[in-house]
Amino acid sequence: MRYCPVCTIQTPLMSYEVNGVRGERCIPCKKMWILETTFFRALNQSDVHMRELGRSKIQCPDCRGLFYQYEVKKTDDPFVMEKCVQCHSVWMPVGAVKAYLELEPVG
Ligand SMILES: [Zn+2]
Ligand SMILES: [Zn+2]
Repeated sequence: MRYCPVCTIQTPLMSYEVNGVRGERCIPCKKMWILETTFFRALNQSDVHMRELGRSKIQCPDCRGLFYQYEVKKTDDPFVMEKCVQCHSVWMPVGAVKAYLELEPVG
């Protein structure tokens, strides 16, 4: 089981699916852990822009690797994604996952 890297009280991540894309979310934080390839495979990447913001304060809930923060912009509503340097999983707001994946056709 993986635990939320942010919550101070140990909170298990719960299996969660958005538009056919599976990950795990922390309910209190409203954030989602997901494999980077899973997320980007479901997105049309042609107009996604990513800008590195620097090292994050939290660790990957899977491998305890370092997270780096990236600003991700596809729509007019950019968000901050945290990406593990070791296992290439990402941590991001559930709202952003939904907003981005629901722009894409299901399949
Ligand atoms: Zn949490
Ligand atoms: Zn990791």
